[in-house]
Formats: sequence, structure tokens, C-alpha cells
Amino acid sequence: MMANPNYASLKELARAKRAQYGVTTEALNLIVVRKIYSDEGIRIDNWEFPRTIRAAYMSDDADPSVAINKTLPREPRLFSLVHELKHHYVDRPKIEQGQIKCGDYNENQTIEIGAEVFAAEFIYPETEFLERLQLLNIEPGQCSPEDVVRLKRECRACVSYQFLRKRLVRLGFAMPHAFDKIQFQKLEEQLYGPPIYKQKWFQRRRGRAQAK
Ligand SMILES: [Zn+2]
Repeated sequence: MMANPNYASLKELARAKRAQYGVTTEALNLIVVRKIYSDEGIRIDNWEFPRTIRAAYMSDDADPSVAINKTLPREPRLFSLVHELKHHYVDRPKIEQGQIKCGDYNENQTIEIGAEVFAAEFIYPETEFLERLQLLNIEPGQCSPEDVVRLKRECRACVSYQFLRKRLVRLGFAMPHAFDKIQFQKLEEQLYGPPIYKQKWFQRRRGRAQAK
């Protein structure tokens, strides 16, 4: 498959926007993204969407807003908000002219893949990702599930396992479907123990704090 030059320019746009807003991978979080939204004049509305809908960009009467599924956890929420930023920067005229209607987005493959490419590069630039793989000695075609867990814990980017899994496969560090049956959260607990909020002493302490 030929690389789509359109996607290369979207990666460039993502890096330019990072630079414009002084975004670094380690410091990027929901607070930073909300600040960008407010600077761009985009309103965020929390919505009760069906599970399959993450978010939608709307611009009525030059009043842009993003409706976001309020149940989304942190990493996919961040990803969705940055995905919708791409629609704001690139697709807004078409959306305003009604050439694309809200909800049609999924049928508009190029637009959607473009937004995924933009978000991925904005949140965790590919060059930084490749540098991290090298530091962790993860070789092309050789990435094990344990490596993915190590990468998630050490990359310092606000990304989900799904994000890492997809990119590792796309860049040839793992075979397609290599991780389909892996439950990474479980594997992480097996390797490193349960997260702090699941540990008995923490729950006891929190219980005491709440009782006060
Ligand atoms: Zn979209």
C-alpha cells in the first residue's frame, strides 16, 4: 500500500500544533488539552452516547463544539479530544457547509483515518516512540506482550494499550493479530502487582479518610 501523502502532511500539522502550544509528551494530559480547546474557542460537552460513539465535532453558526462520551476513561478521552481537533483544523469548512454531517464521519474513511493519524502523532510523535523502543531493546518483529507492558509503564505518554498495540503492529514490531488475545491490564498486574487503588492498604486508608 502506498503511503498517503495527505497523512504525512497531517503528521506535520500535528507536530506544528504541538510546537505552537508548547506540548511535550510527558506533560500532555486532559488539562493541557482543555486549555487548547479554550484557546481555540471550542466548547466541550459531556454526552451520554452509546458505547460505540466516542465523540463528535460540530460547528453551527461558527460556534464549534465537541460532544464527548462522558464514560470514556482518561487515555481514550484524551485521544478522542485530539482526534476531534483535527476535524476542527482541517475539516471544519466541509462540516459547516454540510458536506459532511455529524455521524457520517465513520463512512468518510480518509477523514477518519487522517484524524487518527493526527491524534497519534500529536500525543506521541513516532520518532519519540521509536527512540523509546530502541532504549528498551525492542526489535522489529520481536515485540512480546511483556515488552508492551514495559513500554506502557516507561514511555511516559498518556496512551492506552490499544494505542501502543496498533502502532507496534503497524510499524512491524509485532505481527498483525499478535496481541489479539492478550489482556494487557491483567498481564501488567501479574508482572508488577495490582495498581495502588486495588491494594488492600490503600483501600483501608481511603476507607478511613472517607469515614472522617
Ligand atoms: Zn472523527
